[in-house]
This record gives sequence, structure tokens and C-alpha cells, in this order.
Amino acid sequence: MSATSLSPNAPHLLNTGLTVEETRAAISDLVDQLLASDAFAETESVALDQGLNRVLASDVLSPIDVPAADNSAMDGFAFRGAELSSGPLTQLMVVGTVFAGAPFTGSLAAGQCLKIMTGALMPSQCDTVIPQEMTQKLPLAGDSIERIQFESNAVSSGENRRLRGEDLAQGSVAIAAGRILRPSDLGLAASLGINTLTVKRKLRVAILSSGNELRPLGVALDSGSIYDSNRYSLMGLLNRLSLDVLDCGIIQDDPLALKSAFTKAALKADVIISSGGVSVGEADFTKQVMQELGDVGFWKIAMRPGRPMAFGILKPVPNQTPPRTTLFFGLPGNPVAVMVTFYQFVQSALLQLSGATQLRPPLTQAIASAAIRKKPGRTEYQRGILEIGPDGKTLVRVTGSQGAGILRSMSEANCFIVLGHEQGNIAAGDLVNVVLFEGLL
Ligand code: AMP
Ligand code: MG
Repeated sequence: MSATSLSPNAPHLLNTGLTVEETRAAISDLVDQLLASDAFAETESVALDQGLNRVLASDVLSPIDVPAADNSAMDGFAFRGAELSSGPLTQLMVVGTVFAGAPFTGSLAAGQCLKIMTGALMPSQCDTVIPQEMTQKLPLAGDSIERIQFESNAVSSGENRRLRGEDLAQGSVAIAAGRILRPSDLGLAASLGINTLTVKRKLRVAILSSGNELRPLGVALDSGSIYDSNRYSLMGLLNRLSLDVLDCGIIQDDPLALKSAFTKAALKADVIISSGGVSVGEADFTKQVMQELGDVGFWKIAMRPGRPMAFGILKPVPNQTPPRTTLFFGLPGNPVAVMVTFYQFVQSALLQLSGATQLRPPLTQAIASAAIRKKPGRTEYQRGILEIGPDGKTLVRVTGSQGAGILRSMSEANCFIVLGHEQGNIAAGDLVNVVLFEGLL
């Protein structure tokens, strides 16, 4: 789908059902078009300790072999594999010790070995290490030289040695462009002696809440009003992604106020995310404004929660220099629907726009510990608690009441139970798809 097919005059403007997959594809196409602009090609150099969660802009090539030299994979005794006896037991004389960071410079005679620590450089004459726990010390003889003995078949020639370049050969790709940098990537870069990384520039994302009933924190609630919680959920979701967040506050359901807020936000931001004001009846305000500002489709998506959603582009603001198109997401107002639509659509779009290659969290599967009701014809994202059952199997259950406004269901959950478009009711014991909210790395 092209951006122009999102035109407000297109027949699918409202009341058109899209599946979750169609929505994802349409958003991804739109982001691809935006990516053609120079605005998203900018990179910057950051110190390694500032790299977490940034998107790597170009491949990091290893300047060295890792490991830089052959070394011992074990605490044990290093020797020439040729010393292994053809009989059941091998005996060797221990004539020295090699520590990590202190290479052995002497030479070994036949029948000799060296005590060696994990990570210590392999002495040039040695190619094999027998782990310490597989050896026995023999009683000292008159010469007072330590001797060890081990079963000859306990080790083969060449074992327990890490070879130079085995993890990473010099010049090979250590971390690929598009990687969202994780702690292990920072450690890996450091192990290669690299202390700056070229990353994509941070996206600027504006967030705003719309609704006459919304109140900011710190004021007393009058009758019928509620606190604006969506901006805080969104801030949390965005801050995890290493973006610059512009908080544009609460906007009244009023076309002029909305227009002015969106225009101001578009001047500064690459992406605008609003919540509220896209459901039937209310969408009129936002629709009216979007018709003037850009090319935005209002959709009913076959999903639950999170049915109404708008997305599209805002045209460059008149006289904006340089002119820049802004990606727009109008999320539903319900607090859970905001988080679900963010996780399912917005997060991957932001990552795609940042140049990341891994856009979606991995799916896993678990056994439903109780029946779950589900209607075919829409994708459902139930909030779940994933845990290991008493028999060691991975179980998942829903977190109580699943209403789209019940934020506690989200707060208590550690995963989404994803029930596919065609899927019907789930029986206890059935396997279901699960996406964890947070991973380890
Ligand atoms: P709407 O999509 O504007 O019709 O909103 C749907 C529901 O979500 C209504 O109950 C709103 O009061 C509620 N809602 C909308 N925006 C927010 C917000 N920022 N924080 C908390 N609840 C909201
Ligand atoms: Mg509203």
C-alpha cells in the first residue's frame, strides 16, 4: 500500500476492517517510504558506554583475532598430544606453571607438561590440556618433581584448547548493522578494543493525549474527569527504546487545539503518537484535523483490545526547513489498548524507522492452564502470567478481568497471550502463543 492510498478521500477511510497482519504490512510500507528520505540516514558517534539500546549504523568489524592466540580452555595440564600413551595410563612430569597473562617462554622435553590456568596462552610446544580434575598426583620420587597420571583416553590430542581466531577472525563482522545494542554487544565491542560506535540518530517522538475528561497529575479530579495515564505508559514504552520523547501534554477535543498541537509537534518530531479521540463519534475531530494536515487513514482493526486506530503521515508544515514528513499514530484511548497497539504496531515501526533489523520480539509457546474464551475473526492480546508449573512445564494463565480499560491487568502480567485471527476457544492444556514483555538481555 502506498502513502497516497491512505488518502482521506479513499473509500476505505472508516469502518474498514484490517487484520493485524494487514495493518503491520501497511505500516511497514509507509515506514519504508519515509526511510527513503535523508532525514533518517543520519548517524552519530557515541562512546561505548552510551551505546545501550541504540541502533548500530554500520557493521563493526573485528580488528583482531579473538582469541588473539591459542589458549587453555581449562585449568589443568598442557602437553603435546603425542605424549598420550598407547597404554591405559599416561604419566607426565610437571615442570612449571603458566598463568593467564604470563606466557611460558621455556621449552619442554619429552614426558613433560605444564600446569596451566584457563585463558593462559598455550605454550608453543603444547596442543592439548587435560583438566585438573581428571588427573591424579603421583607420590613424589627422590627427584622431588611433581608427576601426574591420567587415563589416556580421558582426552584426545588437541582438546581443551581455544584456537586463535576461533570466536572471531580478524576482519569478520562482530556486530551487524541494524543491531539494537544489548549489554553483550557493548562487552563484545570492548573486548575488541573498540570504544566508540556509529549509531543511527535518535528519533524524536512527540506524545500527546486528547480528551476533555483528562486531567494532568497534581490537580484534583472534578466530576467525570480522570487522570491522563496514557502519556506515562507511552513515556515508559518509548524510553526503553532510546528515543528523544517530546511530551506535548493534554489537548482538548477541539479541532483548533488539535491542529495547533499537531502542527507544533510536527515541527519538532519525526513521529507523533496521540491517544484517544479515534473511536467512532470522537474520530470526527481528529479526522477533520488530519484531513487538513496530512494523509491519515482511520481503521477498525480486527483485534482486541485496540480496535480503532489511525495511522498515516503529516505533510511538512508550511515554511518548515528542511521540510519533513511526520509519521502519525492515533492510538485508541483505552489504557490497555494504548499499550497493546504500541507493542504490536508502533514499536516495530519506530525500530524500522531507526534502521533496526530485529523489529519484533520472539514468540514462544506455553500451555494454557485454564480455558480461554476467544471469538474467531480477530486477533486477541490477552494479558497473561507465564510461569513454570510444578511438573516443570511452562504454563500461562490470563490476569483476571481483561477489559481494555483495566490497566492493572497489564501491570500484573508478564506476557501477552496472542490468540490468532482464526482461533476459537482455548481449552485448558492447549498450547498458545505468548510474547514476553521483557527479556533477559
Ligand atoms: P477515546 O478513544 O478517546 O474514546 O477513549 C476511550 C477511553 O479511554 C475513554 O474511557 C477515555 O476516558 C479513556 N482515555 C482516553 N485517553 C486517556 C488517557 N490519556 N489516560 C487515561 N484514559 C484515557
Ligand atoms: Mg476521548
